[in-house]
Amino acid sequence: MTPDQIRVLLNDPDRTHLEHLAEHAARLTRQYFGRAMGLYMPLYLSNYCSSHCVYCGFHSHHKITRMKLTVEEMAVEMQAIARTGVQNILLLTGESPQATPLPYLIDAVTCAKKYFQGISLEIYPLPEEGYRALYQAGADGVTIYQETYDRARYSEVHLGGEKKNYDFRREAPMRIARAGMRQISLGALLGLGPVAEDLASLYAHLREMEKAFPGVEYSLSFPRLRTIKAQEFAASSVDDITFVKILCLTRTLFPRVGINLSTRETTALRNQLIGLCVTKVSIGSKTSVGGYLEDATARDPQFDVADDRSAAEMIQYLKDHNFDPVFTDWRRIENL
Ligand code: SF4
Repeated sequence: MTPDQIRVLLNDPDRTHLEHLAEHAARLTRQYFGRAMGLYMPLYLSNYCSSHCVYCGFHSHHKITRMKLTVEEMAVEMQAIARTGVQNILLLTGESPQATPLPYLIDAVTCAKKYFQGISLEIYPLPEEGYRALYQAGADGVTIYQETYDRARYSEVHLGGEKKNYDFRREAPMRIARAGMRQISLGALLGLGPVAEDLASLYAHLREMEKAFPGVEYSLSFPRLRTIKAQEFAASSVDDITFVKILCLTRTLFPRVGINLSTRETTALRNQLIGLCVTKVSIGSKTSVGGYLEDATARDPQFDVADDRSAAEMIQYLKDHNFDPVFTDWRRIENL
């Protein structure tokens, strides 16, 4: 779809059209995914960051308490996550190759292998050898969002650090696929750039990846800008109705691609979208480093969570609504 076609759809005020779109999206989701709902939990390893993204609570100019987990601390947090039964973990860091170099990330993956089947990373872009080393250590997926595909806007909001390098980030999914990862998640931070253009570019990016690496399992995420400790750093221009349209449109264009939804979104909206087009949800999320520890309340989050249901509550919600919560759908086989 062209940006103009997407804009027409997003600006269409007719609720009947939205209902038809939502019904179509729900039908396709049930056809290809049944009532399975993948679960994952994020673990923030470090909030050190040498980049300056104006919309993020971890950026290098914010006066927050910086910390990174030791391997012993990671193990404690991972055990807390594993006790929920969830077998997919997403390991996150800020963009600081100095504070969290590749050997640190390999240690984190090695530690995670003791507790989880699926290990994904949301980290700074690496060269292909770096992704390969993480894959060989046991990681099987990488999440990387371009944030906005609009180069001018990208420069405006990425003021310093390695994240300023648009092309190195844009090309990361190709390097990830070449390194052997089986899952790649792409996305755009909605509200940061021109929405219709960003969506068209994201869809084109995904098509490009599907053509080059058809064997990879792809998913898309659409994080919206959030406040940080109730403070506005940038205003999202994507309201709830537009957000629902974006996810439903995506489902109709990519019937078999996973759609992830994080706890950035409210409980009510998550409940609604789970029934329409979402196939994987984060649950019980803490967005600060050390967030799963008992004394975690004073720690600085990357963004404020809007759905604060515990993992157990979310799992129960899914069961009560006739969904199958999927703790893992994949198991690593060593020595192949
Ligand atoms: S978005 Fe990532 S790179 Fe940018 S400031 Fe936040 S943690 Fe750092």
